[in-house]
Amino acid sequence: MHMVAVGGSDAGISAALRAREVDPAAEVTVVAADAYPNFSICGIPYYVSGEVSRWQNLAHRTTADLEAAGMTLRLDTTARRIDVTGRKLQVTGPSGAEEVISYDQLVIGTGAVPVHPPIHGLNGPDARGTADGVHLLHSMGDTFALMHTLEQTSPGSAVIVGAGYIGLEMTDALTTRGLAVTQMEQLPEVLPTVDPELGALVHAELSARGVEVLTGTTVQAITKTPAGEHGRLWVEAVTGSGQPVTRPADLVLVVVGVRPDTHLAVSAGASLGARGAIKVDRAMRTGLPDIYAAGDCVVTHHRLLGETYLPLGTTAHKQGRVAGENAAGGNRQFAGSLGTQVVKIFDQAAARTGLRDHEAVAAGFDPVTVGSEADDHKGYYPGSHRIHMRFTGDRSSGRLLGVQLFGHRHAEIAKRIDVAATAIFHTMTVEAISDLDLSYTPPLGSPWDAIQLGAQAWVRATGRH
Ligand SMILES: Cc1cc2nc3c(=O)[nH]c(=O)nc-3n(C[C@H](O)[C@H](O)[C@H](O)COP(=O)(O)OP(=O)(O)OC[C@H]3O[C@@H](n4cnc5c(N)ncnc54)[C@H](O)[C@@H]3O)c2cc1C
Repeated sequence: MHMVAVGGSDAGISAALRAREVDPAAEVTVVAADAYPNFSICGIPYYVSGEVSRWQNLAHRTTADLEAAGMTLRLDTTARRIDVTGRKLQVTGPSGAEEVISYDQLVIGTGAVPVHPPIHGLNGPDARGTADGVHLLHSMGDTFALMHTLEQTSPGSAVIVGAGYIGLEMTDALTTRGLAVTQMEQLPEVLPTVDPELGALVHAELSARGVEVLTGTTVQAITKTPAGEHGRLWVEAVTGSGQPVTRPADLVLVVVGVRPDTHLAVSAGASLGARGAIKVDRAMRTGLPDIYAAGDCVVTHHRLLGETYLPLGTTAHKQGRVAGENAAGGNRQFAGSLGTQVVKIFDQAAARTGLRDHEAVAAGFDPVTVGSEADDHKGYYPGSHRIHMRFTGDRSSGRLLGVQLFGHRHAEIAKRIDVAATAIFHTMTVEAISDLDLSYTPPLGSPWDAIQLGAQAWVRATGRH
């Protein structure tokens, strides 16, 4: 059996590794458009900040590790076309020569590409690019271009367009590098994936670090700086009330989300689903014979919402693993996402899992969200931090639907959200969280963990004893 995976990132490599595990006799080839297979895209902000000193350290595994696991890597090789009936993949290799690779099973892991918002100067023939200091960020290639600007032009200021989790991580990174950062976000609060009550705490942390945060501000144009003004670039925006806002900057980074890269799959006849991502079933089958797809290019099965699009590295790894196992003859289903995510913003962290109030309403629940606070460990032991929590549960069934957390980066925000994610995964009620046997010692926790205190606050507020 010859399995070919297209894409050398989380989904493609996970599929390749799993296929070899399930069937050690399988021949496995990975076709990747760049030369950086199995790099941790999620780690890019920490290389840019300087906290990770070498880009090579971002590799989850080296090329030698991957080859030792039994896969053939075809790097700098772009898949152009799939001959579905002939089970052949047409590729262009590093020299530009075309070649045909036969497969028995194919996994498409072409990922996503950054969204180009409609900003004058970002799109079209006269668009400004990396040589002008205007950057997007998704790949190692984008990272090298950004580092080139940082190292060769020593910018003093940056405008970051977008305050989602990648925009926030990059604000942290560029501020850590010593740049004066202005963050522009068109929505009313930063980190719009959490409730504004927690977004406001993220906002406060940014401001405390000297970041200028402009919310409700839509960027319209990136132009060359007028003569006599500071900075190489001039960012023109407008507020919700129509007031113009302009800021000079030596560097502009546009990070406003991604869209699925579906070109290869669509040209082969694959159907599309949520947000234009490749439609797959829970076995990661595309519906085309012997063709699976996984990662940021496909729709995501959400355990509470059904079909969504939720591009995350954790999900890409799991979906890739399912696709690889099934391509190798297995029978595995993707169990589904809860959109669990966490982001570090300087010394704070924000996390969420499951649904927020409005999402729960749209999914047909009758949600109540209750905010509360608790210490991460006993207050008498030095170094305790407050954790801000928002619990969303269904009023009629008492079922836990979602949790959002904000607190110090050393307050175990990530692991506490994982407790909540586990509870939602197993359809627990909010009240049952108090029954969980969680660990305790005063320097690290409390007899009732913060997560249990948040659950109890919800039960008290809703009267669902
Ligand atoms: C800065 C940053 C930080 C992030 N942080 C986090 C985080 O903290 N947590 C988290 O869960 N997620 C995070 N993510 C998201 C995560 O990185 C992605 O969800 C994940 O990388 C998706 O993996 P993928 O394999 O589906 O696609 P991608 O990583 O997009 O990779 C697709 C691959 O396919 C290749 N390719 C595309 N077309 C072709 C073709 N025709 N032929 C050959 N090769 C092709 C591309 O070159 C690329 O190597 C972050 C993303 C970024 C950009």
